[in-house]
Amino acid sequence: MQQIATHCDLDAIVLRFWGKCTPETPGCCRLWTAAVDKDGYGKFQVTNPKGRPKQWHLRAHRFSYWIAWRVSPVVVRHSCDTPACVNPEHLIGGSQKDNIRDMDDRGRRAKGYSKPGCSGDQHWSRRNPSQTVNGERHGMSKLTDRDVATIKEMLASGESQMIIAAYFGVHKGTISKISTGKSWKHVTV
Ligand SMILES: [Zn+2]
Repeated sequence: MQQIATHCDLDAIVLRFWGKCTPETPGCCRLWTAAVDKDGYGKFQVTNPKGRPKQWHLRAHRFSYWIAWRVSPVVVRHSCDTPACVNPEHLIGGSQKDNIRDMDDRGRRAKGYSKPGCSGDQHWSRRNPSQTVNGERHGMSKLTDRDVATIKEMLASGESQMIIAAYFGVHKGTISKISTGKSWKHVTV
């Protein structure tokens, strides 16, 4: 019973999410229309079910990636170089190493590098098909002490275990074990 209620909550959250970006146009960016953070990434507010004052913001592009692929890689990058874009087709999951390599590549070709067009064969993802999302590039994230501290804070504020699991890309059982103290006991908030 509890599971069904949580699932419905998640559907509502996903619907609310897509209401906060520009409509889908094939090949184009879907831009976040709600608040963005200092780096230009969309901020998606997850309402606190217990109505306590603390609010959690997820990075919108990360949540979009999770909606599309149901995994949260360590790093989610934009093939379109547009931080506010939440089009899952423009998001590439990878490791921190991939991210650094990507930044190096971009730095090297910064001179004369023009921003890709939004559709057709000129799109970055079409010219670089090996860089686009596919099953093999998905890596499940590993939790760090810092992640677990955040998870504990979110749990204490009444956030649902399903949402926390979604954001961190781990199984709900992992969050449940943290919640009951069966694992990650050494991390304190
Ligand atoms: Zn885009």
